[in-house]
Amino acid sequence: MTKKIFVTDTVLRDAHQSLLATRMRTEDMLPICDKLDKVGYWSLEVWGGAAFDACVRFLKEDPWERLRQLRAALPNTRLQMLLRGQNLLGYRHYSDDVVQAFVERAASNGIDVFRIFDAMNDIRNLQVAIEAVKRTGKHAQGTIAYTTSPVHTVAAFVEQARQMQGMGCDSIAIKDMAGLLTPFATGELVRALKAELSVPVFIHSHDTSGLAAMCQLKAVENGADHIDTAISSLAWGTSHPGTESMVAAFKGTEYDTGLDLELLQEIGLYFYAVRKKYHQFESEFTAVDTRVQVNQVPGGMISNLANQLKEQGALNRMNEVLAEIPRVRQDLGYPPLVTPTSQIVGTQAFFNVLAGERYKTITNEVKLYLQGRYGKAPGTVSETLRRQAIGSEDIIDVRPADLLKPEMAKLRADIGEVARSEEDVLTFAMFPDIGRKFLEERNAGTLKPEVLLPVPEAGAVASAKGEGVPTEFVIDVHGETYRVDITGVGVKAEGKRHFYLSIDGMPEEVVFEPLNEFVGTGVGKRKQASAPGDVSTTMPGNIVEVLVKEGEQVKPGQAVLITEAMKMETEIQAPLAGTIKAIHVAKGDRVTPGEVLIEIEG
Ligand code: MN
Repeated sequence: MTKKIFVTDTVLRDAHQSLLATRMRTEDMLPICDKLDKVGYWSLEVWGGAAFDACVRFLKEDPWERLRQLRAALPNTRLQMLLRGQNLLGYRHYSDDVVQAFVERAASNGIDVFRIFDAMNDIRNLQVAIEAVKRTGKHAQGTIAYTTSPVHTVAAFVEQARQMQGMGCDSIAIKDMAGLLTPFATGELVRALKAELSVPVFIHSHDTSGLAAMCQLKAVENGADHIDTAISSLAWGTSHPGTESMVAAFKGTEYDTGLDLELLQEIGLYFYAVRKKYHQFESEFTAVDTRVQVNQVPGGMISNLANQLKEQGALNRMNEVLAEIPRVRQDLGYPPLVTPTSQIVGTQAFFNVLAGERYKTITNEVKLYLQGRYGKAPGTVSETLRRQAIGSEDIIDVRPADLLKPEMAKLRADIGEVARSEEDVLTFAMFPDIGRKFLEERNAGTLKPEVLLPVPEAGAVASAKGEGVPTEFVIDVHGETYRVDITGVGVKAEGKRHFYLSIDGMPEEVVFEPLNEFVGTGVGKRKQASAPGDVSTTMPGNIVEVLVKEGEQVKPGQAVLITEAMKMETEIQAPLAGTIKAIHVAKGDRVTPGEVLIEIEG
């Protein structure tokens, strides 16, 4: 008896997300679509949260337009997306009408298969998305976000899968985002799932610890029906097993995939060349790293954390943060580490290490989590932490979106004429700030994609202008890339020196002072905090909200500012009782540690 194994190639989404910071552009996808469409893949994964985000934030491409172009170029292959349940492609819970509108638009622009997951594995957060997909007639796939912990048992995963099947899911996926699966554990899980389910089982396992191909073999031997792979030139490490390798592994056996290895070779060679173009996004954290089997921190999260630690000048604290992550996860009842819980746990661990005291600062997201606003935690949360974080505030036990009012009408009104379609409104809904900016720039015709560095030739050194001293730099600040040209230098006077720069072609004047503190033109420099009533932060970040006005009375511990660092929000509190004497920040300002942001007279 033969059983054909079906293949989903992730090259257009997860592979470059895992290896190249999600930066592949549509222009590098379209030329190979003709061949991809002939392979006979069951589906191609093309869309997801990070892909949508990178389009809008860095590539300045309309993600909906990418989807339409891929749809037209791949008429014979199912297109698949990854959807974060009630979070859709964003980081918060959306109201049901937004979920319904999003799924409907995604389906009508070309998505055939929706892989739907929830970071807590709380199936209440999948319900509305599954129903919406079923209404479009497309394929709804229920997902197990795989993790290991004392509360994550085979029986619990089987029960979750059984319930998702009962909700109408057409298939079940095991999503091993961190590469935590081991071959024999995979075999056991798949065997148990197949014994209970009537729908097909998919296996999506990252090769972070070097085990994914073995896991897939065991999965298939135990009855799995589908495997996720990546074409070899974008495979392995934090990506997936190579497509050609898995096709070869099953060739001529009862599990033959039937895919044409020669055609796959041509596609592999094509992406081998494409990968070079994105060399600046290659990272040392995307190779096989067996530590995940010990610290359970997914590869994508490690590289993300490393970037964020580097930004804060604290890369040397990496090992401490890696050790703190499992402790925070335990305190929160063992959520799987996947967006957004990976960011919530990772950032809180980072705060715990940098503050030198656990939970001295607690992010707003951790507070919301402890209130039940992301759903039900898989295990028991630390009561001590819960009391410290939210005191006697209410804990909700309903589906979080049950508390949300319909939002589409308000979103449409908020974005107004900037939106030219329902898709535009949804782009704005997913990413309110960068989405609006993207749409405005698109309308004005001023979109500028980030600069790609030229591909270095073997043995060549970076060329320099003038007398062999570099005057051009490409710098990366908070994930945004800028091209900086030094165009002139003034004389040094009063310990200051003026530099004339152009940043992305725009002239700027910068004054350098001792200790390399610098002040851009037109930006007032804030003084360093010294008085007891001076409010400052311990982390560089942005001001999200100023909660007080000058002249207002405040109590000690009252929140006066909300800042954002590493995608997480934190309240900054008044150090003492008194009157707000001066406010030196406004919404959107960038602040650095130690500066006086607000002065309070006690
Ligand atoms: Mn993945």
